[in-house]
Amino acid sequence: MTISNTRNGTVVTTLGFPRIGARRELKRALEAYWRDQRDPAALLASARQLRHRHWQLQRDAGASVVPSNDFSLYDHVLDTACLFDAIPPRYQALMQQDPLAGYFAMARGHQQDGVDLPALEMTKWFDTNYHYLVPELTADQTFQLRGDKPVAEFLEAKALGFHSRPVLLGPVSLLKLSKTTDGSNALDLLPRLLPAYAQLLQQLQQAGADWVQLDEPCLVLDLDAASAAAYRLAYAQLAAAPQTARPRLLLATYFGKLDDNLPLALSLPVEGIHLDLVRGLEQLDEALAQWPAGRVLSAGLIDGRNVWRSQLDHAVTVARYARGHLQPAQLWLAPSCSLLHLPIDLDLEPSLPVDVHSWLSFAKQKIEELAVVAQALDHPAEAATALAAARDRIASRRQSARVHRADVAQRMAALDADASRRGLPYPQRKPLQQQRLQLPLYPTTTIGSFPQTRDLRQARAAYRAGRLDEAGYEAVLLALTESCVRLQEQIGLDVLVHGEFERNDMVEYFGEQLDGFAFTRLGWVQSYGSRCVKPPIIYGDVARPAPMTVRWARHAQSLTAKPMKGMLTGPLTMLQWSFVRDDQSRADTCRQIALALRDEVLDLERAGIEIIQIDEPALREGLPLRRVDWQAYLDWAVDCFRISAGGVADSTQIHTHMCYSEFNDIMPAVAALDADVISIETSRSRMELLDAFVRDRYPNQIGPGVYDIHSPRVPEAGEMAGLLRKARQVLGDDQLWVNPDCGLKTRDWPQAEAALRALVQAARTLREEA
Ligand code: GLN
Ligand code: ZN
Repeated sequence: MTISNTRNGTVVTTLGFPRIGARRELKRALEAYWRDQRDPAALLASARQLRHRHWQLQRDAGASVVPSNDFSLYDHVLDTACLFDAIPPRYQALMQQDPLAGYFAMARGHQQDGVDLPALEMTKWFDTNYHYLVPELTADQTFQLRGDKPVAEFLEAKALGFHSRPVLLGPVSLLKLSKTTDGSNALDLLPRLLPAYAQLLQQLQQAGADWVQLDEPCLVLDLDAASAAAYRLAYAQLAAAPQTARPRLLLATYFGKLDDNLPLALSLPVEGIHLDLVRGLEQLDEALAQWPAGRVLSAGLIDGRNVWRSQLDHAVTVARYARGHLQPAQLWLAPSCSLLHLPIDLDLEPSLPVDVHSWLSFAKQKIEELAVVAQALDHPAEAATALAAARDRIASRRQSARVHRADVAQRMAALDADASRRGLPYPQRKPLQQQRLQLPLYPTTTIGSFPQTRDLRQARAAYRAGRLDEAGYEAVLLALTESCVRLQEQIGLDVLVHGEFERNDMVEYFGEQLDGFAFTRLGWVQSYGSRCVKPPIIYGDVARPAPMTVRWARHAQSLTAKPMKGMLTGPLTMLQWSFVRDDQSRADTCRQIALALRDEVLDLERAGIEIIQIDEPALREGLPLRRVDWQAYLDWAVDCFRISAGGVADSTQIHTHMCYSEFNDIMPAVAALDADVISIETSRSRMELLDAFVRDRYPNQIGPGVYDIHSPRVPEAGEMAGLLRKARQVLGDDQLWVNPDCGLKTRDWPQAEAALRALVQAARTLREEA
């Protein structure tokens, strides 16, 4: 396909493409550079190669216009902050000496030659599993255009024969996603920021860019009047430059419908708007009714957030409908959002089951699907075969016995409110559990995992590669489990764990044992920087063919007289960290997982396990982007947790764990989980994060983390006792547990052992004071 013949037809474009490379080439290049430090040439060459390959791939798949400056060595929000010189003072010296070192210091901290710079804070990019670096601003912040990344990458594409559309994070979203360190309002900085954007637009225009994409995903969030005013000011000013001094502007909105912000978005004086028509098809009618004459609609028709083949007939219908309201050149076809959140190429997954494979579409396939839609608009007869094939795939998925199981459907239909209820209310369960467990005041425990050292990872890799047989691998795991139990006894912990050595990942481990989950070989998605995750794909009804963890728990319990905690990953977390079905609601998929876990919980109980922990670190991140949708989500989310835990006896103790601490917005839901014990992360905030629990008079037991497991630092007993005293001031003595912030998986054995000894010592000190 050459660029000239696609130009004449309907434009197919993307808002952004994954950067990491199908084989995580960027990860490798980054890690090599971080190891040797000095020479960035190899890193920059890999980056260039990836950009080239990805432009070519997109064009070959059928994109007539490709994005540029969507690439990043680490994170696009960090790039934008650097581009406009929003660099906090602590990095400036290093930045001047070595810009690339300064950039990575902002991304990941820098410890060298007595210099110790902590990284910028990192947080989730909207409701994705991508994390961005949060720019730090102050009231006296100034901005200036620094560096030329967008221009350079545009010219790089041009030299390679690609006419690209540079992508920039828009000024209002940039400020709204930043934080200030002095309590000032970041939006107040907008007037100072806009001239730098205007200057950049002019430079891009001079370089030959006819369009620039300004990403403003914050337009799909709840906006206050000040934010709306910021949007008006920003775009009035950017558009005010004469047409000859700036490219045309495509305002990109995604991750949801604009809803009450639709009139605002339509009122902005830009030449094009991208709408997410996957999550926000409802807005199309209203938008078209008010569509300003001559403006381009970039129609986000194909789901950029999920891995399923599209219903192309439906996409064609929507595209035709839109085109009926527009001039032909005014309609562009695009995925709903950047393809950043998808694996790159399904062709690299030959070992998926054939039918599952035929239902899937990764970044490259999404563009091919769009090309079919464009063909259907431009030359309907030629698209007929491709549309028929798409129809067949959808039909095969709809009818597949692999997807739809009568036994699961029956269980779902039979679910009633009783399933999510424990027998007695918490105050009556509590003495029964205490009678059974006989725990001391301030019981000590851990969150589950113990250090996963190189030996273990090597054994696992050897086992997976067939170099170590099952019995050999098993022996490694059993030995580790046994020594872990012995160590915990020696240290004097009250509630033990088996150590989770058999798990590589808390979702994958369970997914691999459940029906309805598929796993890719190379389905990597960037999580942050060089870190990628390989989310499982939930394609069908979920069921548990056999017990998953009982063997380990039973074995570990047989080694000790102390209570052994059973360890499971909760239904929300399994859902949230997977690609999920789009042919039923998230709530229903989650209920199916909850039912499978419920069976596991009951099997653990039957095996003599008296305490079972169901981890839900992803409960909060599942919150929808708009507040109106929160309650509905929390209702089913809480219900799913309760289904998984609800079957046990009143004397069996259910724990849960969440490795964060912003509970302010979700406190009623956390209480409604009705776990007997919850452990949370609090050590870094020095217990301030308990406030929400105190204010809401959280009734059940809490283990506020006293050991920050994210750091190699080993805290002393006195320090942990100090934290516990703070917690004791606001919580009842009989409410408090003593534990680390999270699992010990990433620590080494000497650190873990020393920290746990100190932790047990801290609990003893507190007991003496009680
Ligand atoms: N039980 C898990 C562990 O200890 C919990 C991990 C998590 O909360 N992310 O590793
Ligand atoms: Zn955790």
